[in-house]
Amino acid sequence: MFMAALFAAVFILGTRLRAAAEDFPIYFPDSKIVVKSETLNRTTYLPIVDIIQHLGLPYTDALALETLTIRSGTFRLVATRNRALISINDQIVLLQSPILKENNRWLAPMEFLTQGLARITGTEFRYRAGSVRVLAGDVRAPELVMNAQDLGPVTRLTIRTGIAVNLDVQRDDQNNRAIVRIDHAPMDPLRERIDQKDRLVNSIVFNDSDGEPKIVLETTDEAGEIKVTAADGNRLFFVDVLRRVAQVTEAAPPADVPAGRIDAPSPERPERKIRVIVIDPGHGGMDSGTTGPSAAEKDLTLIMARRLRTALQNQVGATVLLTRDSDIALDNEARSAVANNNQANVFVSLHIGFSANKADSPSSIFVMQEDFGGAAGAAESGIGMFLPWYLGYRTNRPASGRIAALLQEELTKAVPGWKFPIRKAPLGVLASATMPAVVLELGNVNNSLNSQTLMDNAFQSRIVTAIVNATLRFSELQAPAAN
Ligand SMILES: [Zn+2]
Repeated sequence: MFMAALFAAVFILGTRLRAAAEDFPIYFPDSKIVVKSETLNRTTYLPIVDIIQHLGLPYTDALALETLTIRSGTFRLVATRNRALISINDQIVLLQSPILKENNRWLAPMEFLTQGLARITGTEFRYRAGSVRVLAGDVRAPELVMNAQDLGPVTRLTIRTGIAVNLDVQRDDQNNRAIVRIDHAPMDPLRERIDQKDRLVNSIVFNDSDGEPKIVLETTDEAGEIKVTAADGNRLFFVDVLRRVAQVTEAAPPADVPAGRIDAPSPERPERKIRVIVIDPGHGGMDSGTTGPSAAEKDLTLIMARRLRTALQNQVGATVLLTRDSDIALDNEARSAVANNNQANVFVSLHIGFSANKADSPSSIFVMQEDFGGAAGAAESGIGMFLPWYLGYRTNRPASGRIAALLQEELTKAVPGWKFPIRKAPLGVLASATMPAVVLELGNVNNSLNSQTLMDNAFQSRIVTAIVNATLRFSELQAPAAN
């Protein structure tokens, strides 16, 4: 009596908490079915008859008896309306929620599949609480991991997949939405959505309700172009949402500048060849870089990069993007992709040096090693393989050398006593860059005097000014002939 009363109360509550029917895919090894699930009293219900029809199982829907009987081989499963149990060959299997019949549709909770249908068909049904799909039998669903970062003028969605896939981006600008389709079904997302809300993105949600995996990005009015970079044999993707105002390709004539564009060059300022500069603060997150008695490389590079951003924006009039603007880890591909995707004219990766000799204050300006690029070279130097299209540094080799020489001149003037030799090395972050690119390594973090100097405000200003001057001179070299 008590149970019946409790049951009635729950059931009334359940009908009140009814949610709209939702598309719910069930993936089998060779087929899939999308059914209409319903959420009642926080329990996901699936329409049984749709599923057993898809499985081709004979069944009897005895209206008068309010029972549903399903046969499979020697098994007979009987479900009864409003009962939180089923019987299989007269053995009782308890369910956590009752079987329902609404509008002539039989609705069952998930255990009906995982404990009922699974037993009579020998097919395993896998369901993860909170997810909105069922994987049946030995269907394989590669893992999908999403992460997002606010990089200032760019919001980057990083997608890692367990197998190689292709992505296709479709824009729905009227609804501020971009849909990234994945050409493999099913996928197994680690998280159904990621909490990302910033100036460019309102939400990022995985959705395969129609049986087609995709990631839906709700974007803001500020979002402009979306660029996708594939890496790691199409198992790693960077989906970059660019701010609308940063329309910064060299080819775009000023006449095309839309009204309200914030970054439009003022008429007084001469058109410069350098419109986008990407500064890469080395290391970050778990990777502290070199650490000395009073500072970690990852913190110093970020401080310097932020100061450089302000100075370069004000004095060069360029859009300056940082590869990271917080203490996060990024791999080389992610760093150069920020520069490549934004068609940067200059890429500077900032590092702090380290020498075991505490008296040293070695600085270096690195450009990409010239004869590097072959797979053998990559293997020998132990820095891994680069994708063929990443070898973009080759065409910019002379320009990288020019900016390195200008940096050397300006920095030597700015910091008397310090030497800034130009070195060549097969650095991954440079190999991937398709524009003039250098790595600037400053000082010796292990030299306590050096380390304090690097954190000194006035010293940082001198370095920043030197880099700005070198960039301005480089810009003059790049400027088109006056006509
Ligand atoms: Zn470093």
